[in-house]
Amino acid sequence: MKIFLNAGHGGCDPGAVSKNGLKEKDVAKRICEILTDRLKQAGYSVILFQEQNSFTEISKAENKSGADIFISVHCNSFSSSSANGVETLYYPTSAKGKRLAECIQTWLLKTTGLFNRGCKMRRDLHVLRATKAPAVLVETAFISNPEEEKLLRDKPEMFADGILQGIKNYIN
Ligand SMILES: [Zn+2]
Repeated sequence: MKIFLNAGHGGCDPGAVSKNGLKEKDVAKRICEILTDRLKQAGYSVILFQEQNSFTEISKAENKSGADIFISVHCNSFSSSSANGVETLYYPTSAKGKRLAECIQTWLLKTTGLFNRGCKMRRDLHVLRATKAPAVLVETAFISNPEEEKLLRDKPEMFADGILQGIKNYIN
């Protein structure tokens, strides 16, 4: 079982930035590094990739990798600081992607206790459309929400654990 992890954003694209200056790309990288260690300890083969120049690099690397599943890790952001919760995105025609999204969403809710925004179909996202393996994009929490920003900054292992348990659940 080979797992392709994409830490969202990277290079000169910071992704969303909180009022305190916390960058989405750094949070995504931290969560993915913890998740990579735990997946390797559990015996899985892992490729961790964060883009440097453009997001088409991600699908190119994934297409060559022969990965069994693809997971892109992000933080959500909104103009209103009260927006909150976890959501997981998948490509509309992928039944396996939908199931992977449901497994990860379920476990992230258990490990974080955050609000359930649900699993959502997204046709317009390159990383879901152009990847070969069943693919999901996880919006872990809102970096624009002060309480969730704190969790993203101080408890990245909580998010890594939820994604890890969701992956195990999907595989078994
Ligand atoms: Zn993002």
